[in-house]
Amino acid sequence: MTDTVTDRFLRYVVIDTQSDPTSRSQPSTEKQKVLGHLLVEELLAMGVSDAHLDEHGYVYATIPSNTDRQVPVICFCSHMDTAPDFTGTDVKPQIVRNYTGGDIQLPGDPQRIIRVSDNPALRDQIGNDIITTDGTTLLGADDKAGLAEIMTAAQFLVDNPGIEHGTIKLLFTPDEEVGRGADKVDLAKLGAQFAYTVDGETAGHIEDETFSADGVEITIQGVAIHPGFAKGKMENAVRIAGAIIDRLPMEAAPETTSDREGFIHPTGVTGSMEKATISLIVRDFSEDGLASKEALLEIVVKDVMAAYPGSSHTFEITRQYRNMKAILDRHPQIVDYAMEAIRRAGMEPVRGSIRGGTDGSRLSFMGLPCANLFAGGHAFHSPLEWVSRQDMERGVRTLVELARIWAERS
Ligand SMILES: [Zn+2]
Repeated sequence: MTDTVTDRFLRYVVIDTQSDPTSRSQPSTEKQKVLGHLLVEELLAMGVSDAHLDEHGYVYATIPSNTDRQVPVICFCSHMDTAPDFTGTDVKPQIVRNYTGGDIQLPGDPQRIIRVSDNPALRDQIGNDIITTDGTTLLGADDKAGLAEIMTAAQFLVDNPGIEHGTIKLLFTPDEEVGRGADKVDLAKLGAQFAYTVDGETAGHIEDETFSADGVEITIQGVAIHPGFAKGKMENAVRIAGAIIDRLPMEAAPETTSDREGFIHPTGVTGSMEKATISLIVRDFSEDGLASKEALLEIVVKDVMAAYPGSSHTFEITRQYRNMKAILDRHPQIVDYAMEAIRRAGMEPVRGSIRGGTDGSRLSFMGLPCANLFAGGHAFHSPLEWVSRQDMERGVRTLVELARIWAERS
């Protein structure tokens, strides 16, 4: 079996592995196990003899060390599910060979055009082979590009025993897209010291930072009264909620911020005259930034409430997740070696921050420090998703180099 990364990718994307946020089971959809079984079969066929799928839908496997050196055990991880945002049933991959530039019209739906103006990264793809869908489904390059790259790198390491490396663990997770990808992982069984999720976008990128995240719920108890007799008495909770939302700082909103700026974002509001609730999320890269945004929010709420003496409120903060940089900075070799591997694979490494969370941030805080490497996909979670063959091949080379560098430096 000498499958290329593209062969594998095309085989994996046609298997529907959409996860379901409303399901309580684990994995959230049974169909994810279909891909899990296939990956196990392929690993066993290449001689990775302990590969298995567990009852929660996780695939574990080990490529044994082939060196006498004491090399830390590293893990390559990607997720098998695709996002609930768009259908992943009956994916029909299309290949634009030797891309010459310009917008890409998808054949299955005239409305769907991958535009260069929305995808400036296409400008770096001239001459490459670009894989898209026909426009009626998502592609699932997030994260089947990661799976295909890890599997191809595994095959390469098994076939080339001359490349010295330590023990390498493979971990394929279900339900990442519904935020539960780390829920049932058995880190003791995995037995890795450091890990990389292969789930980022542009080739050459490595991310060691995520947002720190809290949720805030504000509940307002107003003074309800028949509107015909309300003068000087009614304190309408709906109106109070509106006043609070109106005073949220516009310069710290998701729609006005980028890069390393945080925000306060109202995600939901429900209410009646008597009682209203505002749900918000607060995001920042630093703990101080998070705290100061929450303090600002509380000042706004108290200030608005001061005009309504008969009303009361509660202000509740829920911790969601934290910036993984705090953990990764204690192990600088994780990112340093990845940057070197990217260089050896012929790219200029770019270190970035994720304006969101990843399973890697959860794994980092569970005791497995984990950075996020590029997988090469773009326009995730949409029918306009695409990835190039050449970027996936760069991903494979990066993983192979990374395995080699960990051994060299030990
Ligand atoms: Zn992903």
